[in-house]
Amino acid sequence: MTNLQFAAGISRLGTESAFMVLARAQKLAAEGRDIINLGIGQPDFRTPEHIVQAGIKALQDGHHGYTPANGLPVLRDAVAADLEKRHGAKVNPDNIIVVPGGKPTMFFAVLMFGEPGAEIMYPNPGFPIYESVIKYSGATPVPIALKEENGFAFDAETVLSQITERTRLIIINSPANPTGGVTPKEEIDKLVAGLAKHPHVALMSDEIYSQMLYDGREHVSLLNYPEIRDRLIVLDGWSKTYAMTGWRMGFAVWPDAMVDPVTRLCINDHSCVNASAQFAGLAALTGPQDAVHEMVAQFDDRRRAIVEALNDLPNVTCTDAAGAFYAFPNISQTGLTSMEAQNLFLDKAGVATIAGTSFGRYGEGYIRFSYANSKDNILRAIDRIRAVL
Ligand code: PLP
Repeated sequence: MTNLQFAAGISRLGTESAFMVLARAQKLAAEGRDIINLGIGQPDFRTPEHIVQAGIKALQDGHHGYTPANGLPVLRDAVAADLEKRHGAKVNPDNIIVVPGGKPTMFFAVLMFGEPGAEIMYPNPGFPIYESVIKYSGATPVPIALKEENGFAFDAETVLSQITERTRLIIINSPANPTGGVTPKEEIDKLVAGLAKHPHVALMSDEIYSQMLYDGREHVSLLNYPEIRDRLIVLDGWSKTYAMTGWRMGFAVWPDAMVDPVTRLCINDHSCVNASAQFAGLAALTGPQDAVHEMVAQFDDRRRAIVEALNDLPNVTCTDAAGAFYAFPNISQTGLTSMEAQNLFLDKAGVATIAGTSFGRYGEGYIRFSYANSKDNILRAIDRIRAVL
């Protein structure tokens, strides 16, 4: 019999339901059920071959040791060149920190500012790890309610009106998980202008889906606002753009004052990112981008198909899902809660989706469909859902 005394923060940690739904879907599949998985948020494509080969070559060439904690200099130079090419923004490679995936950047940003008494704002519905790590840190999570009528974009005035003297950090995410929402430039302009009155507030912009926009939309990177660069963290990474979720490769641009503390967090946490994965990441940035464009074109084709099919379901409506690879239909008129719908779709239709409430309380009435699956499977899944509805 033990009497272990866990730290209080551990019981405040949340989780990402996508992993639990995936486990349940896999269990049902193992029992012989035909399950279509529209739950997990990862591209269904292989990592492009030249990237895989670069990782293999790095191992064969003997890159088996530690690298600098902030990432290989050649890789950070390539990230800076890529940011300049994509966003037209000049970034000093010394401000780039390579980390194992997108998540460490958000964890470290929250650890840097979060403690009891502090407030941190985050999108809701939003990526569930934001709220989880804010709670873990002891800070008070202050939701930015995202509304369907705004295309799930944040409203700058609402964000600014929620700032208090205890606000330390605001997290924004566009294109967004789970809604596919893209925030228009006017709202970002207003937010940045309003922040001038609140010099004590830092901003983290999660731009991990920055290359996945549709219908001619262009990504607006916060890196293009020099007036806030001294308190801006921009999170990005390889997972989604290059179908590299399992390689664990991410980076962020940090302002000068945070570079030293975040480097120390890296040294305390993981020392450095896997060396061969960094060489693969380098090949991804410096090699041909055709595979990225092809993947985005396929996502766009599936997006049109799923949005149309969802809108055709009884009592279901869906916005046009402007970015990322998620559709977030409103199912409130079906009379089901999000969780009831998630369970019904999995148990009776054999379709894995994620309840909107897994992304925060403002997700009630919605379901997340990831369209990282073939068009055939997507249409088959919606047909099965039609049958159970
Ligand atoms: N940010 C957002 C908005 C995401 O949706 C995800 C993954 O789903 C991440 C960050 C984390 O990405 P990674 O798998 O690279 O940690």
